[in-house]
Amino acid sequence: MPAYEYRCNNCGRNVSLFYKTYSDYDSATHTCPHCQSTDLTRLISRVAISKPSRDYSKMSSDEMLSVFESGDSRAVGEMMQQITGNDPSLGAEYHEAAERLRKGESMEKVERDLAASSKADSTTP
Ligand SMILES: [Zn+2]
Repeated sequence: MPAYEYRCNNCGRNVSLFYKTYSDYDSATHTCPHCQSTDLTRLISRVAISKPSRDYSKMSSDEMLSVFESGDSRAVGEMMQQITGNDPSLGAEYHEAAERLRKGESMEKVERDLAASSKADSTTP
């Protein structure tokens, strides 16, 4: 059964409207059950919104480690970019690696390339 979330512009409440079929939905006049206003704004359903990016700068080192261990290269790339910003001291390879991870390349591949290209000038913290 299709369900739609609306925000009523008259009374300001969020309302859920249910329809038996999609054609019912198409032909229906969407009415606020609280105040009978038809001035409703469709809210985009939660699943359609891309998940808000996490604020990695507030993560503990344990949490960061768990992101690395998750093997989710997009998350790792995003984390690298958030934490280091555009710090030029990290070198172009680092930023390139973060960008490639964000695009979904495998961590193994990016790590290998990175290690191969930056063996000579690795900086110690
Ligand atoms: Zn209302």
